[in-house]
Amino acid sequence: MPRRLHLHLIDSTPPPSPPPVSPPRLRWRALLPAALLAGFYLLPWLRWNDRQALLFDLPGRRFDLFGLTLWPQDLGVLLGLIAVLATSLVLLTNLGGRVWCGYACPQTLWSGLFRRIERGCQRHLRSRRLAATVKHVAWAAVALWTGITFVGFFSPIDQLVTGLWPLAWSGWEIFWVLFYALATWGNAGFLREQVCIDLCPYARVAPLLSDADTPQICYDARRAEPRGARAPGQGGVEERGRGLLDPVSASDYAFRAAHPALAGPMPRFADDRLGDCVDCGACVDVCPMQLDVRNAPLPDCIACGACVDACDAQMRAQGFPEGLVKVASENAMRQQPQRWLRPRTLAALATLMVLLAVGLL
Ligand code: SF4
Ligand code: SF4
Repeated sequence: MPRRLHLHLIDSTPPPSPPPVSPPRLRWRALLPAALLAGFYLLPWLRWNDRQALLFDLPGRRFDLFGLTLWPQDLGVLLGLIAVLATSLVLLTNLGGRVWCGYACPQTLWSGLFRRIERGCQRHLRSRRLAATVKHVAWAAVALWTGITFVGFFSPIDQLVTGLWPLAWSGWEIFWVLFYALATWGNAGFLREQVCIDLCPYARVAPLLSDADTPQICYDARRAEPRGARAPGQGGVEERGRGLLDPVSASDYAFRAAHPALAGPMPRFADDRLGDCVDCGACVDVCPMQLDVRNAPLPDCIACGACVDACDAQMRAQGFPEGLVKVASENAMRQQPQRWLRPRTLAALATLMVLLAVGLL
């Protein structure tokens, strides 16, 4: 199938709120983005030896990094740091999958923040017009403060804030604050995950960095298929003795359900022959990429885990075990042993070691 080459705006209607999820997972998933966002906004305010701790002072030609000062002749150190970070990301992708996309990428963080604002306005304000106005005012305020914070990494943030009114910024400060604010507003408010699908280079290379032992979001079709609604109180496949399907039948049912026009309608199954997927659609409703996790492969999946939480909540509601949708590698799904010494892992690890050794020397 050809990839979508056109750029279109994703429907900005927020997906419905996810169903309740288990408390530890909810706390972890909600706290990490909040901590990263707080880190971004607070970082330029940190002081070190009476100077801004992190300041890329371009006119002064000096970079302050927590007490370490880099001058133009130290450009190699800066490039080395960037190379170490890039190689660490390669290693992280190989060992953990697209966790960067799901939890730490600025596009994901700000899209999530703007969605929360949107949902909050819709939930608490009855008038649609008022909700839309408040949403845009809040988006604009967040976008502007994001622009100021970003420029605060290049120009002392205290002077930037005191120069806000009356405006005492230089021309380039005005340009970059407005540019970055506008980019935040457009990307997080409107383009959202379309950036991941059509514009992000990391999304293109991430599959090349993964292998059969890299964790990804998986749908357990052997347990789940054939899917379907059923009368309550049936019990899961293990409990009622149906057990797991063989892999060929499981993927055949999943394919038929995903492509009814190609494969024809699914046969009807008695309730006791159904798998554990109750076909509630909760995993699809919460997906920011508008994917159906049951239709593997999922090259656009950002591994945010929202479908895992949504499905676990449904499993608990049905009295079935959790984990119908879960994080697992291809090999784990085939019940193959996990391999740690893999070519891509070793290559990334060796590169990282060499870079660190060169840096230390
Ligand atoms: S399929 Fe699941 S993990 Fe992937 S983007 Fe959608 S909700 Fe997130
Ligand atoms: S949330 Fe779980 S049970 Fe519901 S449709 Fe998705 S996979 Fe099936």
